Amino acid sequence: MTKVCSRCDQEKDLSLFAKRKRNKSGLNARCLECEKERSLRGRIRRKLEGVEAYGGCCQCCGEDNPYFLTIDHIGGRSEIDDLHGEKLWRYLKKLGWPKDNYQLLCFNCNCGKANFGICPHKLEENKYERYRNTNKNDVGDVVQVSS
Ligand SMILES: [Zn+2]
Ligand SMILES: [Zn+2]
Ligand SMILES: [Zn+2]
Repeated sequence: MTKVCSRCDQEKDLSLFAKRKRNKSGLNARCLECEKERSLRGRIRRKLEGVEAYGGCCQCCGEDNPYFLTIDHIGGRSEIDDLHGEKLWRYLKKLGWPKDNYQLLCFNCNCGKANFGICPHKLEENKYERYRNTNKNDVGDVVQVSS
């Protein structure tokens, strides 16, 4: 048995449609592939909305490609808001995009901050030199630079 998808107009096997009790046919009008694409687009749209609400670019290096941007918990994650990705964007939207503990960072800066306590972009130049010359054991001292 096959069914024609209402979106891509392709005739597909019934197993390629999700079940949906509300519909007369018991199946979704759109095939699984089209549904997947739709939810991906919704996710990107939600993310773009958040990116815009948080200034549109990385607050450290200015990267403005939304695909590289992510939410940083300025003071670290707490138990209540240990959310990631889609869930975090939804949560922030519900709160009206709070800025107190959240900022936009690109993945590079976010990782830099997570690994060193401060993004390497923000290490002052002379500290950078020192960092290069220190052995791993003194790194703790070097990374305590205020932004
Ligand atoms: Zn389809
Ligand atoms: Zn950045
Ligand atoms: Zn940075």
